[in-house]
Amino acid sequence: MKKVIVYGAGISGQGAAEILKKYGEDVLIYTDADGGFDDLLADAKLLVLSPGVSPEKAEIIKAKQAGLEVLPEIEIAFNNYKGKIAGITGTNGKTTTTTLVGEMFKTLGVPTKVAGNIGLSLTKELDGMPSNSWVAAELSSFQLETVKKFAPQISCVLNLTPDHLERHHTLDAYYAAKKKICLGQSAKQFAVLNYDDKIVRYWAMDLKSQICYFSRQQELPEGVFIKDKKFFFRWHGKENVVCNVDEIKLFGLHNIENVLAAIAVGYLAGCKVENIATVIKNFQPVEHRLEYVRTINGVKYYNDSKATNTDSAIKALESFPQGHIVLIAGGHDKMTELSDFMECVKKYADILILIGEAKNRFNECAQKVGVKNINLASSFEEAVVLAHKLAKEPQIVLLSPACSSYDMFNNYEERGLKFKKLVNAL
Ligand code: ADP
Repeated sequence: MKKVIVYGAGISGQGAAEILKKYGEDVLIYTDADGGFDDLLADAKLLVLSPGVSPEKAEIIKAKQAGLEVLPEIEIAFNNYKGKIAGITGTNGKTTTTTLVGEMFKTLGVPTKVAGNIGLSLTKELDGMPSNSWVAAELSSFQLETVKKFAPQISCVLNLTPDHLERHHTLDAYYAAKKKICLGQSAKQFAVLNYDDKIVRYWAMDLKSQICYFSRQQELPEGVFIKDKKFFFRWHGKENVVCNVDEIKLFGLHNIENVLAAIAVGYLAGCKVENIATVIKNFQPVEHRLEYVRTINGVKYYNDSKATNTDSAIKALESFPQGHIVLIAGGHDKMTELSDFMECVKKYADILILIGEAKNRFNECAQKVGVKNINLASSFEEAVVLAHKLAKEPQIVLLSPACSSYDMFNNYEERGLKFKKLVNAL
């Protein structure tokens, strides 16, 4: 029997391998460390890509040239599943929105799950779920890049800002990968799109699915928006008020966008408006996303370790409109443009503490833009101690690195946990 090669042994790869084996396939998990890839090709019938594996790898190109079918892990999940998926993507806000939608789905009275980029293999989680089930799937550009027929019942695109150039090289390629969440949809399916994001707004022209826009900035003839400080939903001539904007516990304008998107997805999936309202009123920030940690001598500490790009760090800074922020930033540099971010730092932060591999490039740009009071710390611990020493009420201390964590940690969770530990020990 010809083999299925699963490239990559992370959560997604392992999950796909387990399920393919369960259905009688002869599966081989391959990693970069293994070698001898060419010899495997002759005996293979399918190559499954883990999200971490770029389709530009020499091995993958060779496999395609040899005529082997190449599919991403999420397509295996999709082909094996009879229920409905709400797929959520965007540069930022995916986890928050997916978690929120997952909570709304729990009110549907059918089996539901949250899976995908959130840290749970889509293939494994969807396996065995019945045809009346709903799954909230967080989807990244890495997962979507190589899909062929993947088409969720509801797609949701939150925003597009520069990120992941290390993998996609150009923004166009990054945005094109994300667009695959909705390109394969039919007229019976829905695309929930951010009207305020000009690129996402005009994607509508290329889609067959029914468009439901959401906007934080203006009232829409149809879709989800804010009017008189309330969340409104207008759809097929019906208008619903969900609840007051100030009733939600999440803070920051960006989270209002996540809530608007989630309302649309929940409603289109059939959730009752009163249930949607209850969920959004009770929803707490997800860990490491503008998470309040502690107050010391009147100075509040916030952990936003998940801010791994400049746009999410900008959103964090803007969430404290009063300013007076002592910002800890830096880490593994994603090499994206920094001037908008540094302008924002100049506006909202009193003190900037830089860490990690990125600190010199960040420092140069900060100086160019005219950021004052820049400090370089030689370790994460030193940065936290320095922030504690310098911060005085009404300042707040914010870890929002605008970088990934791989120079000092295994992942952003570890970085956030370490931050909380250090702050709690002060
Ligand atoms: P993702 O899963 O896309 O990384 P998260 O919900 O985990 O999104 O949030 C990641 C970071 O981006 C956090 O720092 C958070 O505060 C910020 N963020 C959340 N939602 C948005 C949004 N809609 N626009 C910009 N930044 C956001």
